[in-house]
Amino acid sequence: MKLWKGASVAAAVLAVLIGLALAFAPILYAEAFMGPAWLRQLTAPPSQAGYDARPGPAAGTVAEGYWRVQQIAPATWAIGEPQNDPDNYEYLLVGKTRALLIDAGSTTRDMRPVLAGLTSLPVTVIPTHLHFDHTNGLRHFADVALIDLPQTRASFHEGRFHLSRYQFMHLGQAGGPPVFPVTKWVKPDGVIDLGGRQVQVLSTPGHTATSVSIHDPAAKLLFTGDLIYTTTLYAFMPDSSLSAYVSTADRLLATIPADTTIYGAHCCRNDAPAQAPWMKMNDLRDVRQAAADIQSGKGRGRGLIIRRFPVNSRMTLLTLYPFGNR
Ligand SMILES: [Zn+2]
Repeated sequence: MKLWKGASVAAAVLAVLIGLALAFAPILYAEAFMGPAWLRQLTAPPSQAGYDARPGPAAGTVAEGYWRVQQIAPATWAIGEPQNDPDNYEYLLVGKTRALLIDAGSTTRDMRPVLAGLTSLPVTVIPTHLHFDHTNGLRHFADVALIDLPQTRASFHEGRFHLSRYQFMHLGQAGGPPVFPVTKWVKPDGVIDLGGRQVQVLSTPGHTATSVSIHDPAAKLLFTGDLIYTTTLYAFMPDSSLSAYVSTADRLLATIPADTTIYGAHCCRNDAPAQAPWMKMNDLRDVRQAAADIQSGKGRGRGLIIRRFPVNSRMTLLTLYPFGNR
């Protein structure tokens, strides 16, 4: 009888621990993500086959022995980091009076010499979101624009922005996260005027709550950061939301013209040699459908806690069990 009672208590404790682990899965996974390689390996969902770029010469030219620079439209360049594991792409949009750099790089290297080779105008940087692979290079810039939301204002003290643990998502960063000024607070849907070229800063939560996309309507370009790119989308982070993915996609699909080209922040397409990761609005439609299917229980995923769901022939989406998704 005593043994039976002991077993019941142990089972109850185990059930509570499992419940807590599931409830706090985004936080636990975030910690594992920032932890040692073996822990990351252990908690990683099954890998996605077949999303590498096709063999062949990569688009663009190498600059400073590190960056890959590719012109994608008039006065518009993609700047890739093929040597860096998250394979980031930043984008430079040049107007008549100033330029806008979308994301500051995954590396702590200084990108300014590359930019100086493309424009002599002053450069404003806007990160699409606050993760390390989009903000690391901000340490080199004095003119930084940021979406004006209560969550971003909360990290701004004495004229500088201080990235929190789960905003930056990288504990092993030498020198720690960058601390940077914010020179322009941009309201959701606010416009940045580059001189003869106006771009709109759209609040596009999903990957993170404060993520933005940059819309250049005249050029028919939409830069989406990590909301949507051409490989594996992360919708399991502490700040991710599947329902926000659906509502953001709905809003973009209703307001952005269908012939707009999307550029995401991570390479590559699996149907071409390495190049800036471009997509069509239909890819966003596919992501919206996948997110809605996961929410309704129709989507078929693989994985224990973080689960991988198909989106289309080149994209998958990582997220939690339905009860763990917001
Ligand atoms: Zn990223």
